[in-house]
Amino acid sequence: MNAQKRLEIFTRLREHNPEPTTELHWSTPFELLTAVLLSAQATDVGVNKATARLFPVANTPQAILDLGIDGLKEHIRTIGLYNTKAENLMKTCRILVEQHGCKVPKTRADLEALPGVGRKTANVILNTAFGEPTIAVDTHIFRVSNRTGLAKGKDVVEVEKKLLRHVPREFLQDAHHWLILHGRYTCVARKPRCGSCVIEDLCEFKDKVDL
Ligand code: SF4
Repeated sequence: MNAQKRLEIFTRLREHNPEPTTELHWSTPFELLTAVLLSAQATDVGVNKATARLFPVANTPQAILDLGIDGLKEHIRTIGLYNTKAENLMKTCRILVEQHGCKVPKTRADLEALPGVGRKTANVILNTAFGEPTIAVDTHIFRVSNRTGLAKGKDVVEVEKKLLRHVPREFLQDAHHWLILHGRYTCVARKPRCGSCVIEDLCEFKDKVDL
């Protein structure tokens, strides 16, 4: 895909949604970190329901530690894999309290050292909480990037590197959210809604569906 097409794609995505953001509910970096940790293999809607119960009771590392593992599980048991997620969140809170002054660290290395935090989660925190131009390639971004031709790659790291290299600079900060939302609601996995896609004429996917 050439640079002009990429520019046009992001221009249209921006026109369509000028201020894209995550659908997870959060108001502090720690709340965002907690929500993202809980979101693996769960819907944002499900996570938001759980955090709507949890955050009024505990939305700091110390408050989560004070809940204890069983108290934490009570608030998040509607979310898949909640046992493992509760354990990771407790360990993460302990590290934040003991090593980071109860704050979420701002470097990739420190973030990825937290239990349950991988490259994707670190990218979400760096981008959405701290305003860094990172792109967390999830299943939606991977699919959209490969289908459209924005950034073709065999794995998420390759797609991430290509996106960082090729997304026009002015769009880099928000590219992550535009691509996720496009994949979640339009360029869906089974039958992409090409008939109502705002970038249909720019997309290089060979098997478009006229829905
Ligand atoms: S035209 Fe179809 S395949 Fe291409 S981005 Fe739009 S929905 Fe996805």
